Amino acid sequence: MKVPFVDLSPQYQEVKAELQDDFDRVFAAQHFILGNEVDEFEKEFAAYIGSKYCVGVGSGTDALILALKAMGVGENDEVILPTHTFVATALAVIEAGGTPVFVDVDEATLQMDVNAVAAAINNNTKVILPVHLYGSMVPMDQLMQLAEKHGIQILEDACQAHGATYSGKKAGTFGNMAAFSFYPGKNLGAYGDAGAIVTNDPELYEQAKLLHNYGQKKKYHHEMLGKNSRLDELQAAFLRTKLPHLDSWNQQRKYIAQKYDVALGEYRLSIPDEIESVYHLYVIQHPERDELQAYLQENGVDTLIHYPIPLHMQQCFSYMNHSPEEFPVAQKYTARILSLPIYPGMTDEQIAYVIELIQSFENEK
Ligand SMILES: *Cc1c(COP(=O)(O)O)cnc(C)c1O
Repeated sequence: MKVPFVDLSPQYQEVKAELQDDFDRVFAAQHFILGNEVDEFEKEFAAYIGSKYCVGVGSGTDALILALKAMGVGENDEVILPTHTFVATALAVIEAGGTPVFVDVDEATLQMDVNAVAAAINNNTKVILPVHLYGSMVPMDQLMQLAEKHGIQILEDACQAHGATYSGKKAGTFGNMAAFSFYPGKNLGAYGDAGAIVTNDPELYEQAKLLHNYGQKKKYHHEMLGKNSRLDELQAAFLRTKLPHLDSWNQQRKYIAQKYDVALGEYRLSIPDEIESVYHLYVIQHPERDELQAYLQENGVDTLIHYPIPLHMQQCFSYMNHSPEEFPVAQKYTARILSLPIYPGMTDEQIAYVIELIQSFENEK
């Protein structure tokens, strides 16, 4: 049996006819930039997340960059983020003009360690950037308390957490702003690059609105130095069709994760009770990760590693002169983590096959 790491075709089959209607509707309207579809999607996505405002942008990376700029990040401003994340989180800080400050992650959850954040705060700290990794979440009550105590803003990187909740409240509603990605493989994915910023703050919303469209409210009247990063009208139409399916697709991910949890309990990562993960990724930690990965591959199961090199050890950040031991938890788990296949439409047979292989790997030792 073959099990791909991810297969987007089951989702596509479910909405295929509607996507064709979307395509026809956008072409009938002949309004390709910032039209009705973008307006409507922004309203619908804000309502889904439980946030007042949404600005559709070109990608998750752009959502992070524009949000940081809206929050006033610039020269000499430090932004605290976990070293164990996708590179875009840190690249966005640099592109916004700030300085990324890495912190380690919690050993049980692999989410940003709030105690490490507390230790990294200084007078230059402008923003704390928690990443809700794998569809789970950073402990937001502790982080909010810390940020309030120091008067520091929070930008949530919710690019992997569409619909995840902490004490019943959705990812993206805790911080001053949040960034979402609609990269095709994300829990809510477009058919190309796309992203969004959400916020409850009318001033930050206005800033983001200006920044993503050449710094203009009125055409050719440029109030500030903006850029061009707008959600595409066609992608907005597709996302409007897919959004009503998001909860059911997340439910399917949870169903798969539960089966993995039961069978692979000793290798699972901890998810605290107050968090409802949407399992963007299902990650296990295993002492013989490389051997297990090779064994699964030989038997037709694709896996990936998220992420194989923590940011403090990436070549592009070598100028920061970090040593591997500086962030021991990230360093340790980088060698142990493995992401198993999980996607809406994965069959019971495929789930059982992955589990069976991992169990037979154990037994053959
Ligand atoms: C996907 C992702 C991004 C970037 O989103 P793009 O839409 O690919 O630019 C940023 N942060 C995290 C944690 C992500 O998973």
